[in-house]
Amino acid sequence: MACASARQSTLFDRTLEAVAAARGRSAGRVLRTALKPSASLSDLAGVPVHLKLENRQTTGAFKLRGATNAILCLDAEARRRGVVTASTGNHGRALAHAAGAEGIRAVVCMSALVPANKVEAIRALGAEVHIVGRSQDDAQEEVARLAKRDGLAEVPPFDDIAVVAGQGTIGAEIAEDLPDVETVIVPLSGGGLAAGIAVAVKAHRPKARIVGVSMAQGAAMHESIKAGHPVAVEEVASLADSLGGGIGLENRITFELCRELLAKTVLLSEDEIAAGIRHAFNVEGEVVEGAGAVGIGALLAGKIRPRGPAVLILSGSNIDPQAHARIIGGAAA
Ligand SMILES: *Cc1c(COP(=O)(O)O)cnc(C)c1O
Repeated sequence: MACASARQSTLFDRTLEAVAAARGRSAGRVLRTALKPSASLSDLAGVPVHLKLENRQTTGAFKLRGATNAILCLDAEARRRGVVTASTGNHGRALAHAAGAEGIRAVVCMSALVPANKVEAIRALGAEVHIVGRSQDDAQEEVARLAKRDGLAEVPPFDDIAVVAGQGTIGAEIAEDLPDVETVIVPLSGGGLAAGIAVAVKAHRPKARIVGVSMAQGAAMHESIKAGHPVAVEEVASLADSLGGGIGLENRITFELCRELLAKTVLLSEDEIAAGIRHAFNVEGEVVEGAGAVGIGALLAGKIRPRGPAVLILSGSNIDPQAHARIIGGAAA
């Protein structure tokens, strides 16, 4: 129910209905993560600040929520055939895990340039890996070819109602655990996370402010909202590697929801992201990747002055251990 949706209602209402359905069907398959008060960030901000620990989610990132809901929304024929994606990052891991848990075939297409450890991590989760060409575009072409040849369902990383609804279950948990929430600070890339959370939190508390945080270079949703339509951005290497990539020029869902529902978007330098990773580890005892640390980085940099109570989403923990150690040791980037 509510995997696709009724035609008459608004995108907000359809997404909200899909979040409620996602919660029911994914219960027991994804962790209901803790909301942990942060003494240091509450002191700094002057209002109560809580951390939503999606860095401790199974597969190391919140993406398992969207992938699991998308898998559980497949019809019997699609389940028999399987799913495909080109993501080698947290979405690829999540989809491999969610499909594997249901005994569904998952294929992850990637270029020959993807490092061996990433290839192995995806294989270890039980997915088939197809290596083609030398770019993400080549991998995406292979996705289209396999979708056609084997009838595999492509599960996109963010611009899909089932995926957005799965991420939105975080917002539903926040509304339960902190009913008087005033501000939610969310890492922002394609906007599935921010859109889902915004719908679920604002349905419960319309005046709550949802703030998106991205890296300064290549912030596709920020640039698109500014332009008034989806725009392409140049991809630049960042500590927040999970926030890279475009929102899709044909974006159907997340652009509209983010444009409508986000109070503002904030951009961080690489040093500010590194400071977030360090604070997360040294003060909060949490291993957080660059993308997951931007909320803390934004507070430390004084770029957000939240009304409280506030929630920061720590979205993931999948950082190369050596890179993490270097940053903790004081290297900027
Ligand atoms: C994908 C991802 C994000 C951004 O999510 P979107 O839905 O693309 O905005 C943030 N943090 C981590 C760790 C991610 O993997």
